[in-house]
Amino acid sequence: MTTTLITGANKGLGFESARRLVAAGHTVYIGARDAERGRRAAERIGARYVQLDVTDDDSVQAAVKTVEADGGLDVLVNNAGIEYRDENNGVPGAAAMTADDIRTLFETNVFGVVRVTHAFLPLLQKSAAPVVVNVSSGLGSATHVSDPDHPAYHYPGVAYPASKATVNMITVQYAKAFPNMRINAVEPGFTATDLNGRSGTQSVEEGAEIIVRMAQVGPDGPTGGYVDVNGPLPW
Ligand code: NAP
Repeated sequence: MTTTLITGANKGLGFESARRLVAAGHTVYIGARDAERGRRAAERIGARYVQLDVTDDDSVQAAVKTVEADGGLDVLVNNAGIEYRDENNGVPGAAAMTADDIRTLFETNVFGVVRVTHAFLPLLQKSAAPVVVNVSSGLGSATHVSDPDHPAYHYPGVAYPASKATVNMITVQYAKAFPNMRINAVEPGFTATDLNGRSGTQSVEEGAEIIVRMAQVGPDGPTGGYVDVNGPLPW
C-alpha cells in the first residue's frame, strides 16, 4: 500500500491529484491549513485529512507525528502555492514588487517546500520507494520567460517565477542528495483554479495529469527532472 501526502489539497490541482491517487489505490492525506475545508475535501473522496500549514513549523511537525503514527509515508507532493493577483485579477509588475512581498510569497512557495520536505525526510527514507513531486510552474523556466516567442515572456510578475525557479533548483539538489528517492519538479500547465481567478485555459483534470503521473514513478523512474505532460522542459 502506498501512502501519499499532498499539501494544499483541499481544492484545485492538489484536490484533483488526491482524487486520482485515491482512485489509483493510494492512501492519501489531504494536507490543508483549514480543518473545515480539509475535512470536507477528504470526506468527498475517501482520503484522510491532516492539518498542515506549510508556513508553520509546529503544524508541519504535528503532521509528521500523525502520518508516522499511522504507518509512514511513501509519496510527498509539495503542491501548496500562492500567487499575487490584484483586485482585477492582474499580476503586479516589477515596479510594484517589494522585498516584503517576495518574502511572503517565498514563505509558502519555497520555504514551505523545504520545511515540509525536511520534516518528512525521515519517514520518506524508511519507504521502499520514496517519491517527491514538487509542483513548479512553466513560469519557473528562465528559458521560456526570456524567450519573446513564448507566452511566458509576457508574464509581468517577479516573485512567482522567481519562487518556482528556486523550487526547480531545490529539486535538482535534493535529487542528487537522495539518489534512492525519485524527486521531480512538474509544470501542470495554465489551469483554471482560484490561484488565477479561474482564468486558466486547462481543466483541473488536465492540469493534475503530470502531478499524478510523477507521483507514481517507480524506483527506476526519472529523478531530478522538470517536466510537463509532453516531457522535459528547459530550465
Ligand atoms: P489553488 O486552487 O489556489 O490551490 C492552492 C492550494 O494551496 C489551496 O488548497 C490552498 O489552501 C493551499 N495553500 C496556500 N497556502 C498554504 C499554506 N500556507 N499551507 C497549506 N496550504 C496552503 O491553486 P492551484 O492552481 O491548484 O495551485 C496548486 C499548485 O500548482 C501551486 O503550487 C501553483 O503554484 C501551481 N501551479 C498552478 C498553475 C495554474 O495555472 N493553476 C500553473 C502552474 C503551477 P487554502 O484553500 O487554505 O487557501
